[in-house]
Amino acid sequence: MKILLANPRGFCAGVNMAIESLDRALELFGTPLYVYHEIVHNRPVVDRFKAKGVIFVDSIEEIPNGSTVLYSAHGVSPKIRDAALARNLRAIDATCPLVTKVHVEAIKFAREGYNILLIGHEGHDEVIGTMGEAPASITLIQTVEEIPGLDFGPRDKLVYLTQTTLSVDEAQEIIVALKHRFPHIEAPKKEDICYATQNRQEAVRELVGEVDLVLVLGSKNSSNSNRLAELGTTNGKRSFLVDGVSEILDEWFEGVKTVLITAGASAPEDVVLGCVEHIRKKYNGTVENRVVREENVNFALPRELTLLAKR
Ligand code: SF4
Repeated sequence: MKILLANPRGFCAGVNMAIESLDRALELFGTPLYVYHEIVHNRPVVDRFKAKGVIFVDSIEEIPNGSTVLYSAHGVSPKIRDAALARNLRAIDATCPLVTKVHVEAIKFAREGYNILLIGHEGHDEVIGTMGEAPASITLIQTVEEIPGLDFGPRDKLVYLTQTTLSVDEAQEIIVALKHRFPHIEAPKKEDICYATQNRQEAVRELVGEVDLVLVLGSKNSSNSNRLAELGTTNGKRSFLVDGVSEILDEWFEGVKTVLITAGASAPEDVVLGCVEHIRKKYNGTVENRVVREENVNFALPRELTLLAKR
């Protein structure tokens, strides 16, 4: 069996920064250390930090007064920041700068009197955080079918923004339909779907024609990982999203000559390589590394951590 290993895959700059921030915060403050929501949407990563004593919470009220809290890579709304301030928490903001970019756009456009159509998935942490910046100005759009129901006129100032981890193709479909319905709608200066999401999708799009099966490492609640598996499926290939070796089933490989392995932006490389090794041994596989695009992006640690490190 041939195993094509997609590049780029796995950790992006935002996930690297968030994980490094949590490691650094553990060194500096020890436990108990709290994280609001999962630091990144990946089960192995969250389980490893739980084993080190990190406590993940879904509500700021669960955190004792005066403790230290990290905000995850997906960002938080001002309501959460205020709640943390009210509890006198030391807050470390590990929000990915590319998510912060969307927050800043939402604030700016809302101040300028725009109605913002946010293309994204209801209930996703990032969408909740972005909508919280300007709740009265933002309408969430999830599908093309919702567009005819939108009640805006030609005099209404309109702009669209997007979640960072969408399917490039699906978002484009919605944007085209929005432009058709509202020809005066404006776009963000630079698109919001992040480089990592785009590059991982590009690699799958490029390689999927050569394979019989697509295996995506990532968790079920990871938006960008789900989009990679969907991309395999829409290209007519059986595609599975797994957290690790234990979820891989033998029956998937019957008649398979070539498998594509990729990973969402929050899936650790050691887990990816564990799966590659499992398949290689079991099916006498050969591994081909395929580089579709080089990535060289890094984000600095949150200011709160670098300031403390200098003291
Ligand atoms: S997937 Fe994109 S937006 Fe999300 S953390 Fe990574 S770089 Fe940032």
